Amino acid sequence: MTEIKTIGVIGAGQMGNGIAHVFAQSGYQVLMQDISEPFAAKGLATIDKNLQRGVDKGKMTADEKTAVLARVRTTTKLEDLAACDIVIEAATEKWEVKKEIFETLDRVCRPGVILASNTSSISITKLAAITKRPEAFIGMHFMNPVPVMQLIEVIRGLATSDATFDAVMDLSRKLGKTPIPCNDFPGFVSNRVLLPMINEAIYALYEGVASVESIDGIMKLGMNHPMGPLTLADFIGLDTCLFILNVLHEGLGDPKYRPCPLLIKYVDAGWLGKKSGRGFYDYSKA
Ligand code: NAD
Repeated sequence: MTEIKTIGVIGAGQMGNGIAHVFAQSGYQVLMQDISEPFAAKGLATIDKNLQRGVDKGKMTADEKTAVLARVRTTTKLEDLAACDIVIEAATEKWEVKKEIFETLDRVCRPGVILASNTSSISITKLAAITKRPEAFIGMHFMNPVPVMQLIEVIRGLATSDATFDAVMDLSRKLGKTPIPCNDFPGFVSNRVLLPMINEAIYALYEGVASVESIDGIMKLGMNHPMGPLTLADFIGLDTCLFILNVLHEGLGDPKYRPCPLLIKYVDAGWLGKKSGRGFYDYSKA
């Protein structure tokens, strides 16, 4: 397997720009792709802003920040990813979107180059089957916010080879992260356990058990969680939460995963959480 030096990242949204950030900070060259120039530029501006926070806190110098930013290039063309030694996809959580991306990547990337997905819930085995290299396909599930969170959930598809798995575990450690493996079943481990808790918190709100603030306060103080489940849902994105619950509901066939009607209503209204300015909380003035 060739040495991994250049990392391709698909999607410059909250996860994509975070993934690009941590790789560039660890000395890798990064090529970040999104569908249009404004999306790519926004992702780069977010990396700039987050690095500046590190400079302001005295964690890095202004020169170091400039050097990290210089390692991130952007493009709108998937074909440009041909030069990458591994590609990590972090585009919108939609099957059709990812299908098209992996069909193209499989065509343009060199044989043996690992294709990874940061999907929260779509089957790694099913994504791998889109390509002619299922043995070189794997799930690399980063946590949000990527520069802060330690875990990478590494998901082995049915056909993922030991060589691919070992390379990704090694790469994750080189980022200073802690990779933990699991197998490919709906929601993996993280979201299979987390999303039912978030959904139950939304049901508690829907049924009038308590206010948004009370639900979050009780879970935060009572369970020693760093933030309440409704705040966390707003941070993840309510559309993403709904999508994952639907995957759990359909994939496991158990009514306990039925998404709360209030969550569906919020998503229908375009209240997607922090990224849209409104979710369970109002972020319009933040
Ligand atoms: P986001 O909406 O912030 O960003 C998605 C980006 O993908 C957008 O910039 C969009 O323009 C881009 N995109 C859409 N179609 C594309 C295409 N065809 N080619 C290239 N780019 C395209 O979403 P996000 O929260 O960053 O989520 C991205 C992925 O990461 C999803 O699969 C999600 O499930 C997963 N994930 C999210 C979280 C989270 O907390 N938000 C955590 C772990 C994993």
